[in-house]
Amino acid sequence: MREAFARVFGSAQGVRVFRGPGRVNLIGEHTDYNLGFVLPMALDLACFTAVAPNGGDKLRVYSEDMQQSREWTVKDLESLEPAHDWGDYVAGVAQQLVRAGYPVAPVNLLIRSTVPVGSGLSSSAALETSTALALLGDRRMEPLELVRLCRRAENEFVGMPCGIMDQYISVFGREGAAVKIDCRSLEHEVVQLPPDVAIIAVNTMVKHELGQSAYRDRVRECAEAVEVIRGIRPGVESLRDVDVATFEIAAEQIPPVPRKRARHVVTEDARVEAFMAASKRGDLETMGALFVASHRSLQNDYEVSCEELDFLVDTALGLPGVLGARMTGGGFGGCTVNLVRPQNAEEFSEKITAAYKERFGITPAVYRCKPSAGAGEIC
Ligand code: ADP
Ligand code: MG
Repeated sequence: MREAFARVFGSAQGVRVFRGPGRVNLIGEHTDYNLGFVLPMALDLACFTAVAPNGGDKLRVYSEDMQQSREWTVKDLESLEPAHDWGDYVAGVAQQLVRAGYPVAPVNLLIRSTVPVGSGLSSSAALETSTALALLGDRRMEPLELVRLCRRAENEFVGMPCGIMDQYISVFGREGAAVKIDCRSLEHEVVQLPPDVAIIAVNTMVKHELGQSAYRDRVRECAEAVEVIRGIRPGVESLRDVDVATFEIAAEQIPPVPRKRARHVVTEDARVEAFMAASKRGDLETMGALFVASHRSLQNDYEVSCEELDFLVDTALGLPGVLGARMTGGGFGGCTVNLVRPQNAEEFSEKITAAYKERFGITPAVYRCKPSAGAGEIC
């Protein structure tokens, strides 16, 4: 990135490069803001942020992907207001650093990302974590503090009420493994994945507008379900506290829509545990079946899928060597994630691409996912 940096900013003197990975969530969808369990893995697709001092009084950033730059006077960062574009992710992180007592020096930043933007593989968290590390430089911050700071940037400055999963896995990712995160205690467990399975993401290349408002609706609907269940079981604070048996006792008293939403969350938390157990014993068939159950629950109960995602899942399930398929990420577009026998991976890519192209006239991007390490400096 040195050459590009010199081209954009005139000099690459003292440049350092930091990497923040994207992620794919294997299972545990829409459970994070219900304080339950998720099982993502960090990807080798990542955002790279190159940084060098500029000797002035401004923070400057150029995104190769947007082919645009933004700049802010460093002393204005603390009270900056969002501009409602991509620069908010950078400014938000910078502002949170300043507020946390880590002054931001006048530097130039060059952003280059291989994470597809807005496709549910978390290009936003990749941008946040790589930028935060670039702005910290040699200053150390506890990993969990870094996670929280990046999430605050997205929640409070960008204005997206996301859960903690994306930033967490971007920081805590492990090579060759998935990470189960307890979204209440913020503890995690590294989960080894069986070697004889290919994890393949397929991008619908669409993002339906419904996403943002539906997300807020789901947060509210889950809270409604919690209210009712709390009347029966006073200790319940979130759907995390509700197991399947308790849900079934309470179900009839919950209005139909919140009931469906809650059923998804409660059964999805149970599927995360079951998937982990299956992964540990190398039980690929069960892992695949849990993927499918998760998708059907998101499709029918949580209602965050869409025609393109359903088509990709249904098509995948008819292809040789496919163990399971489901939507991943928030929904309404973005990617599916597929468990495929390695010897069938190539055929899978070709066939799913051809089928999707024929049905929607769009070429889907296909990514072979390699579980990778979390954010850090690259040499
Ligand atoms: P996802 O995180 O699933 O990719 P989001 O909507 O959460 O989707 O985040 C995408 C947004 O993050 C983009 O619209 C853009 O504002 C910002 N972003 C991500 N990557 C980059 C990049 N390389 N350069 C500039 N902005 C980026
Ligand atoms: Mg995001």
